[in-house]
Amino acid sequence: MEITDLRVIPIAYTLPDGEGLGDARGFGHERETTLVRIDTDDGTVGWGEAFAPGRIVASTVEELFRDAVIGMDPFDVESLAERSYTDPYHFGGSVFVQSALSAIDIACWDIIGKSVGRPVYRLLGGTERTSLLPYASTMYYTERDRPITEPMEAAVEEGFTAAKIKIGTGTDEDIERVRTAREILGDDARLMVDMNGNYRPRQAIRTAKAIAEYDITWIEEPVPPENPSGYREIKQRIDTPLAAGEAHYGRFEFKRLIDDRLVDIVQPNLARCGGLSEARTIADMATTENVAVRPHVWNSAVGLAAAVQFAASVSEYPHTRNIPDPMMVEFDRSPNPLRDDLLESPFDPSGGSLTVPQEPGLGIEIDETELEAYRTDR
Ligand SMILES: [Mg+2]
Repeated sequence: MEITDLRVIPIAYTLPDGEGLGDARGFGHERETTLVRIDTDDGTVGWGEAFAPGRIVASTVEELFRDAVIGMDPFDVESLAERSYTDPYHFGGSVFVQSALSAIDIACWDIIGKSVGRPVYRLLGGTERTSLLPYASTMYYTERDRPITEPMEAAVEEGFTAAKIKIGTGTDEDIERVRTAREILGDDARLMVDMNGNYRPRQAIRTAKAIAEYDITWIEEPVPPENPSGYREIKQRIDTPLAAGEAHYGRFEFKRLIDDRLVDIVQPNLARCGGLSEARTIADMATTENVAVRPHVWNSAVGLAAAVQFAASVSEYPHTRNIPDPMMVEFDRSPNPLRDDLLESPFDPSGGSLTVPQEPGLGIEIDETELEAYRTDR
């Protein structure tokens, strides 16, 4: 089998005026990502996603990957990571190279799965999981004044039993948001908080101690990803587990997080970390050191599908299936047609369970008519 075509497809969704999505760092007004479509000589089509701006992905693909990918057998997918480090020596490990690589890697795995008639998670290792626990990413800061209760009530109504909320703008407001979320979710649900790296270590420690009574499953990015000593300081002073990884990429960055015990949970984004191949290496390193793996998802339906396949593939070993800490997948609850409208059958997290597709490859079918509507290169 040979790859005959490689297309880079930038897509975006602009949020309505006044509906920006807020975290502790500020508001975002656009969901932008980049898909890659790969065709083979036997007519198989694979899809991947790069969590990076379209023009950067397109030029990176042209400069570094196209010549190697056209004519390649998709089963040689893991040679691409090596190539990313050897051919453009000195910058192969950069975030945009790894993002472009992620998209090509995911598309190749999609093709391999379709070619052998198996879902990707069973090719990456395979577990007996056929469903995953989705957690609602919600309670963003809003531009318009709204009751903070609304998004969490909606998540509970949908059946979520786990949720992650934005905090990080001051301890008093953090406490109020966490208390509200816990009240609505109930005592048995899992509640995570995300500071988006907005604090200095002492500020994060102050909030962490103040919200500990609300039983927090993890604190995400308390300090910037560039501040490992901050993670170390926080970890020594609080009991709540720490999580990070959405801003990290490649096995070497994750190795530091894992080996230095900076976090309890690593959160690779499949469309940035280097793809499914690299994520598998990251998961092996993490589980070997008894660090949990929970993929970060802030992607279109393709990146979400890759995260679902990846999450389903990660074994509990060295634990048993009785570990009281099940695999979870992030499921953003803000309106996003790039997640909901691009698939013939969108993922459905309602009822607090996410079915792992058993169809070959990523198990998704792209609605190409819908896709055209969100392209930014037309
Ligand atoms: Mg986050």
